[in-house]
Amino acid sequence: LPVIAIVGRPNVGKSALVNRILGRREAVVEDTPGVTRDRVSYKGEWLDRRFTLVDTGGWEPDAKGIDASVAAQAEVAIDLSDVVLFVVDATVGATATDEHVVRLLRKTKKPVFLVANKVDDARQEPEAAALWNLGLGEPYPVSALHGRGVADMLDEVFKVLPQVSAVAKEEFGGPRRVAILGRPNVGKSSLLNKAAREERVVVNDLAGTTRDPVDEQIELGGKVWRFVDTAGIRRRVHLQQGADFYASLRTQAALEKAEVAVVLLDVSQPISEQDVRIIDLVLESGRALVLAYNKWDLLDDDRRRYLEREIEQDLHHVAWAPRVNISAKTGRHLEKLVPALEVALESWDTRIPTGKFNAFLTELVQAHPHPLRGGKQPRILFGTQASTRPPTFVLFTTGFLDPGYRRFIQRRLREIYGFVGTPIVLNMRVRE
Ligand code: GDP
Repeated sequence: LPVIAIVGRPNVGKSALVNRILGRREAVVEDTPGVTRDRVSYKGEWLDRRFTLVDTGGWEPDAKGIDASVAAQAEVAIDLSDVVLFVVDATVGATATDEHVVRLLRKTKKPVFLVANKVDDARQEPEAAALWNLGLGEPYPVSALHGRGVADMLDEVFKVLPQVSAVAKEEFGGPRRVAILGRPNVGKSSLLNKAAREERVVVNDLAGTTRDPVDEQIELGGKVWRFVDTAGIRRRVHLQQGADFYASLRTQAALEKAEVAVVLLDVSQPISEQDVRIIDLVLESGRALVLAYNKWDLLDDDRRRYLEREIEQDLHHVAWAPRVNISAKTGRHLEKLVPALEVALESWDTRIPTGKFNAFLTELVQAHPHPLRGGKQPRILFGTQASTRPPTFVLFTTGFLDPGYRRFIQRRLREIYGFVGTPIVLNMRVRE
């Protein structure tokens, strides 16, 4: 989906604008694995156009770190989006912090909309007009709170927003896109450097292709792979406050562009909440997943026993992901990453024909009927795989299936069809 990102300093009304743009939407019953606490991207719809909206304002810094953090937000937003909405408080005007971001935004080739917020009535429009001098083109006066001007602004946004994300379109059929994820110091940049050093870094000088400078192409196992958002790994922005939020944003930005994620874990450390959170973000994004246990050279027998126990405990829900035990430092088993990526992507792309899927369902229901609920039993009428990437199934039923039963169906799907390395989504349409 094309991506719209919202940027601006604290208190200019970014959240209000996000709510206004998303409007009230019917919640879809979706059995997405994983829970995410710091969500920054949302699926939206406007006049039948679907898009992803990224809110960089989920975290509001205190006065000290503002300049750096707003600039960091802007930088991420520019990297990952197709259109940037830069929100300024028209009642305050542009501040020094705004100027900082403006410099970044002037440099990008991506379309930028200058949104002059808090213009609650026409008398305030001259204040909005004063923002012309920022050099970002025409300011769009809006009131996120009351809705004034928002529709007009969005009409213009959708004129320039591509139907498909520029990234997705450009890369169709190109090298497969990999995100390297993990908490700070797990060895992301070491892995990237090792891979780039041992193998051949492919230089892009194809005329006319606009390559994202934050990505790198590396040949591994005889095939070219595109590692997305590597600038985020190499640049290593260190923020004192909000580092978690920033990291989470970067992770989601990379996931937007990737097809498969390699989540690195540091085996010399206990598996942390942050590790689990990163994996949850992958699950939520619906990307394929490979788990790489790094720093294997530091492992002794004692620690190894603990590790296996921790994995069983904390990562049981992703036991389906291919696992590689590597050392970015010594290069141990790095070559095993490629088959792991390949199998995960193959699963991610798998389609089960409707006939086969219904035969599977019939057999499953006969052997293990849904438990009775108040004397009644929800029936599965029909099922089909609605899409791949990740495999997404829709079940037409006569009542809601218990979560336990839905998990059972997913487990059986994995037993029969494998689906190694991909999340599976199971949706229901209930016909009462
Ligand atoms: P990043 O923050 O995830 O990019 O982590 P880095 O790649 O910067 O690595 C953090 C630290 O861990 C550095 O001191 C690396 O040298 C070290 N490191 C990375 N991979 C390994 C490994 O496989 N074994 C050992 N012993 N150290 C590693």
